[in-house]
Amino acid sequence: MKITITKTANPKAKPTSELGFGKIFTDHMFIMDWTDGEGWHDARIVPFENLSIHPASTVLHYGSEIFEGLKAYRRKDGKVQLFRPIENIRRMNNSAERLCLPEIPEEDAMEALLTFVKCEEDWTPSAEGTSLYLRPFMFGNDETLGVHSVKHATFIIIASPVGSYYKEGINPVRIMIESDDVRAVRGGTGYAKCGGNYAASNRAGKKAEDKGYSQVLWLDGVERKYIEEVGAMNVMFKINGEVVTPALTGSILPGITRKSCIEILKKEGYKVSERLLSVEELSNAMADGTLEEAWGCGTAAVVSPIGELCYKDKVYIVNGGKIGEVTQHLYDTLTGIQWGKIEDTFGWTKNLD
Ligand SMILES: *Cc1c(COP(=O)(O)O)cnc(C)c1O
Repeated sequence: MKITITKTANPKAKPTSELGFGKIFTDHMFIMDWTDGEGWHDARIVPFENLSIHPASTVLHYGSEIFEGLKAYRRKDGKVQLFRPIENIRRMNNSAERLCLPEIPEEDAMEALLTFVKCEEDWTPSAEGTSLYLRPFMFGNDETLGVHSVKHATFIIIASPVGSYYKEGINPVRIMIESDDVRAVRGGTGYAKCGGNYAASNRAGKKAEDKGYSQVLWLDGVERKYIEEVGAMNVMFKINGEVVTPALTGSILPGITRKSCIEILKKEGYKVSERLLSVEELSNAMADGTLEEAWGCGTAAVVSPIGELCYKDKVYIVNGGKIGEVTQHLYDTLTGIQWGKIEDTFGWTKNLD
């Protein structure tokens, strides 16, 4: 694939203060366009700037949008590496298929990603726990209000240096189990990483926040009986020695952190089950004390211990409100591999060259 690179004439100063999440952007962005019949064309890296799109653009009216999220990590030796980027590329193509957006050949998507990260490599921070967050996204960009299959699409990658998720140590979060709104249904877009899923989540998220909870734990959209996932993370429980995570039934986002946790635990001989887990089974385990640990997992936080669960106004404290042993072990192993502090025996990391 031919990628033209236009470097900015005005490079920004690198941030010296608190990075936060997704507030600062690098000097450039990757863009390419797709037209029905012609395919992907005009791959380019250009100075970061506002987009100009037609007010009737498909994405603004009909929500034709998918995205990905992954990080570039600076190792102790100064080199920069990615974590399982091929998984993000494959998931993006699955999301594209669901929303009838064009897929990108895996080699081209990888080349785009690596070329772009190489260009912005200097923006990868080196302080403990920091990284360069990469946000590839794609949207339908037809200039008409007619509802039909997308004939023009735009794919962009932007990058943002982000701070450590846990500046003051790993604090367990408080989670509210949502029993009214649902995030997704089987046959819908739950397994696709698309903006629309987030729009549908906002009301419950706000309700939980107003009550002092940091995220929502979703139940299935049909019976509101089975546990699905938390906010922007998958969820895992240790019940009576067994690690349980909801099976990927179609309405759950197939997280790469989730997959990595399962692979690590299985390799180490833990009993891991991907199965249906009803809220009743979970409540019983909380009541009789067999719920040993609970945690969310996703790229941003890696793992996030759950210290408190609220279901229908009943509050349960998990593991005395403290991080559990398996949760801590997963955090140490994953972050160790991602920042190159421990050997990657899985072959998950990808160097820039
Ligand atoms: C991205 C995302 C996750 C986590 O996926 P990772 O690949 O582990 O970052 C979980 N749930 C939802 C809804 C997501 O959008």
